[in-house]
Formats: sequence, structure tokens, C-alpha cells
Amino acid sequence: MNVLIKGADILTLDPHDRVLHDCDIAIAGHAIHAVGGIPRDFHPDETVVGRHRLVVPAFFNAHCHSPMTLVRGWAEDLPFDRWLNEKIWVAESALTPEDVFWGAALASAEMIRSGTVGFADHYFWMEEVAKVVEVSGMKALLAWCLFGLGAEREIGHATLQKTVDFARLRHRGGESRLRVALGPHSPYMCPDAFLRKVVDAAHRLHIGIHLHLSESHEQVERSLAEHGQTPVAHMAELGLFDGPIHALAAHCISVTQGDLALLARKRVCVAHSPKTYMKLGMGMAPLQRFLELGINAALATDGPASNSDLNMLEVMRLAGLVQKNDQRKAEAMPCGRLLRLATSAGAQAMGFSDSGAIVEGGRADLILFDTDQAHWVPRHDLAAAVVYTAHPGDVTDVMCDGRWLLRHKELVTLDEERVRREAEVRALRLVGAGMHQVRRYRG
Ligand SMILES: [Zn+2]
Repeated sequence: MNVLIKGADILTLDPHDRVLHDCDIAIAGHAIHAVGGIPRDFHPDETVVGRHRLVVPAFFNAHCHSPMTLVRGWAEDLPFDRWLNEKIWVAESALTPEDVFWGAALASAEMIRSGTVGFADHYFWMEEVAKVVEVSGMKALLAWCLFGLGAEREIGHATLQKTVDFARLRHRGGESRLRVALGPHSPYMCPDAFLRKVVDAAHRLHIGIHLHLSESHEQVERSLAEHGQTPVAHMAELGLFDGPIHALAAHCISVTQGDLALLARKRVCVAHSPKTYMKLGMGMAPLQRFLELGINAALATDGPASNSDLNMLEVMRLAGLVQKNDQRKAEAMPCGRLLRLATSAGAQAMGFSDSGAIVEGGRADLILFDTDQAHWVPRHDLAAAVVYTAHPGDVTDVMCDGRWLLRHKELVTLDEERVRREAEVRALRLVGAGMHQVRRYRG
């Protein structure tokens, strides 16, 4: 389908950070055909009036557990160990594949409404999330989470072979909206022998690895005591960062200078989720250092059980505010940088390298904001307005791969009423069901 957006303001996030006013965008099929001068032979099937609209590249969420929408608000005001041991890993013992489907569908509705078109998911029964990706029209990098402690302690008695079969079946790469990675939970849960098998499988399948890494001082201390190495150095030694595709490591909050150098050298992508860190009192990852050292950092919400929502606008805002405040430096994390961390950096981390800018030939992944509102006036700096002022409720339209997922504030691909109803019933059943602790976290 050919779409012409006429007379909009555009935050291109191109290499020159161009901001265009009263400008046209031509979209042909999956891609942006032209920005500015529209070729005479371009014939749109649909013309969108861009007056009072700001067009921005869509967001990519670099680490989440989307079906955890079902336990949103169920494990509040608890430290990380009690949050996992007493709540999250207990509720998940009662989880069914259908719960995963509806939880991910609810997450997708929420993500689309707040301008996110791509997410890196790390959870169980990933074939269910793959179905949601198919239906919703979003993009995703799906990693089936495994602990490597034996089938009886895995959700749904999953095995590495099962996740390998899923990856083989679903991984398309290239033009597809779906990518797959292997998802060992973390160095603190997974035995070395299991992690070595994961590395072998990643090489065989030619896919990446997505895991949690170095989230606390206690995890580092334990790793030093058990392996004589930090978690980052330990994972490097086991070969987790030498796969055919860069690894995606969530968090890296407690890291040494040596760890940082290693993450940079091995081209590991680090997902940064400041709202989760603050909410669980985990301390802040050194985002500024990541970027100074050339580490590929990208912003992420983490799961809605810790973050409470999937709003990348808020993550972007917090990422900026925390760095400015911690460094006592207002120049830290300028708006253009934050916007890239929420768009192109996440897209790259997930393997969608032609997303993240409104440029000719780029993928048509974009958001339209309604700027005809009090909090958008005056429009001195549109990048600052998106980072520090915009609300998810300002998003009127969202396009992914040239297809509308949200149009005039209505979800196009998902039956939102049904998704909300199913998710609510399942969430109430889940936390009221007979639950038991599946496994134990030790700091
Ligand atoms: Zn996580």
C-alpha cells in the first residue's frame, strides 16, 4: 500500500538530526519512499493530513517479559530476592500457554498505544508470543527463557531441544518481522554445562543469545566466590559473547572497568531499564560509561511486573533525568541521544537495522503525535517535547513496516476489548490458583 503523509512536522533522527516542518512523507510498501520532495509518479492509496501531527521513528523495547502484564501490580514494594522467590516464581508455577498468549496480547496493545513497534521478549511458551507477533503486526526478537536446572523446574517442562526446535521453526531473519534468540535466564541461575550447550546451539542455528547479566553486587560476589570471576568475565569465558550474532544482556548494573571493556570488545548489546532498577531499589547501571566506551546500549522497560507498564516515553525520560541528576550535569544525555537509545539502538539490538530513522529507504516504522494540545505549546524544541513532555495518550497513529497498527487512536490489528477481558480473567485466576515455588534465587 502507498501512503502519503502531507504537511507534518518530522523528527527524522537521521545522521544530521534534521527536524522538518510542514513536510511530506511517501511510504511505499514496507519502506519510506521519499521525505520532502515527493516524486510525481508516486500515487498514494491513502493520504494522511499531517497538520498538528509530529512524525517520529517508532520505539523498540530492548528487553521485556511481555506476558508479565498478568502480574502487574501483584508484587509491589518488595526487594528483588523476595519479589522473585515469594511472588514472581510462585505465580509462574500456575501459568498456562494461553495465559502467555493473552498476557502478550495485552502488552502488545499497550506497546502499540504508546508508540512501540518492536520488543525483545524473554519468557516461556514463546510460540504463543510468536502468534501474538503475527496477529499484532509488531516486530520482535523472541527468546524462550530456560534455567537449565532440569525439566521439572522449567515452566511447562521446557527443554533446550524444545526451544531449539522453536527457533528452527520460527527464525526467519531478513525481511521477516520475527527474530529468535536463545534465552538462558542468567549466570546466577544457569549451570555452566547448560550454558555451554546454549552456546553450541546458537552457533548451529546462527542466532543470538539474550540473558540477564550482573544485576547486583551480591551476584558479583557470589560469582567471584564460585568461579573466581565476575559474571561478565565468566560469561565471556564460556563463549556466550562469541556467538554468530551479538549477545543481548539485560541490565549490567554492577560492572567493573574490566567488565565494561569486555562488553565493548565483544560488541554485547546492553538493555537498560531504569524504571525497574529504581522501583526494585537495585541501583543504577552506568549508562554514560556504556556509551563513552562504545557499548551498544538500548532502552527497555523490562517486564511489567517490575516496571508496571511498557511505556518507552517514560523509560526515555527517566534514563535522561537519572543521568543528569547523578552526574550533577544538565548536559548529560541530550534529547537526540535518548531518542536514538529508544529507537535505532533497540532496533539494532533486535536485528532490525533499517529501522529507527525517517529517511528514504528506511523501514516505515513510525509514530504520529497529536501536537494540537496545551502541553505541546510552544514548539521550540520538538525532540525535547517528545522526551520530556509527550504522553502515550498523544499517540494517534502507529505504523510498522508500512502497515497501520493504530489509526485515529484505534487498534487496527488487535481486538482490544477481548484482549483486556481475557487478560483480566486469566490474571485473577493466576494469582488465586494453587501455586508453589518453582526455584530459588540466592543473591
Ligand atoms: Zn528481565
